[in-house]
Parts: sequence; C-alpha cells; structure tokens
Amino acid sequence: MALKQKERKPLHLAKLHVHTGDTVFVLAGKDRGKTGTVTRAMPRENKVIVEGINIAKKHMRAGRGGMQSGIIEKPMPLHVSNVMVKCTECGEPTRIAHERVPTGADQKVRTRRVCKKCGKPIQEHTRG
Ligand SMILES: [Zn+2]
Repeated sequence: MALKQKERKPLHLAKLHVHTGDTVFVLAGKDRGKTGTVTRAMPRENKVIVEGINIAKKHMRAGRGGMQSGIIEKPMPLHVSNVMVKCTECGEPTRIAHERVPTGADQKVRTRRVCKKCGKPIQEHTRG
C-alpha cells in the first residue's frame, strides 16, 4: 500500500518578485544596465521576457513554402536573478519586500510588494 509518491512541483507556482508590466533594471548579460518592461513572466522557469532586452537575431533564409527571409528579432528570456524591479515611487532598482496587510474595501489580508529603498508599495500593473 505504501506507494512512493513522486515529488511534484506544486500546481500553484510561487509568484515571482517580478510581474508582467514591471519596469526592470538588467544586471547581467549584454544588455546590462538597461531598463525595460516585462512582457512575460515565466514562474516555472524563473524567467522573464523583457521588451527590447536580450534580443537574439535570427537569420532566416528564404526557403520553399514562402518562408520569411531576413533577420528575425526575438527577445530571449532572462533569469529573474538578473533583473531588479524598478520602484514605481522612487524610480530606483530595488529589492522587494513582501508585506501582508489588510487592503481594499473588504480589508482582506493581501500580500503586496514593497520597495526596500523607500518603503513604499510597488504599483501593480493591470493588463489591458
Ligand atoms: Zn522606492
């Protein structure tokens, strides 16, 4: 009866400290020192795709079947440890603290991200 359970990743993946829509400061790679907007967060891989950062240029040859030729530019994912969230309040790249505080009309305890530098909450971006 004692079947060994395979270790599995939880279905509810831990959220990254970097969210889609955040402005991030790049710490490593060829685009070190640049800032960009996160277009996609990949919690499973701990990676993010940042607009205009880590662009890979792919040279495509025209082949049969109407394939596009020329250079295709595609942003490659960056590891989250290589980016820092830029605070929406003080504008500095910062580490993030998580605070659990009652917020909203219902005063429900929610986790919010706080800037380690100025202590103000980071503005969340809503898609749309
Ligand atoms: Zn700040």
